[in-house]
Amino acid sequence: MYRWLAPLLLTLVAACGPLQADAVGVADGLVEGHISPFDDSPAITNLDPALLRAVRQAARDAAADGVELYLTTAWRSERYQRKLYDEAITKYGSEHEARRYVSTPGQSRHVTGDAVDVGPTDADDWLNRHGRAYGLCQTYANEMWHFELATTPGGDCPPMRADASARR
Ligand SMILES: [Zn+2]
Repeated sequence: MYRWLAPLLLTLVAACGPLQADAVGVADGLVEGHISPFDDSPAITNLDPALLRAVRQAARDAAADGVELYLTTAWRSERYQRKLYDEAITKYGSEHEARRYVSTPGQSRHVTGDAVDVGPTDADDWLNRHGRAYGLCQTYANEMWHFELATTPGGDCPPMRADASARR
């Protein structure tokens, strides 16, 4: 009588199973849209404390200049980074191409809590002009939103790498 039910359930399990296994959430540093650097979710609290202090000070000073500064991504779990990396391989067609845009889980500065992606574009501009006062530097030439604590406050930023695949 309910013979139709078994194939239906199998189809549902097949559709949902991999999604469940892949699902990343707030505990992995997932950010829906964007997040304030003053938020207390894992994406923010798992950042390196010195980086977080610098970003928060920059955000306060940007706000005083009339520029809202938020983060589109900050700390990410290895699992989350693996998912992004796998998606990039699919999108760009090879690991070699993917690595120009997304680091491997073992190399990502986001996984170690040493990088933030800043938005919106006005805030990227602001931070590119003022970031080194806080030690914050854009480190990849092709990612104007990606900042790391890469110098001492007021120091010079190191030369940018071309992209995430270019090692120091
Ligand atoms: Zn980044």
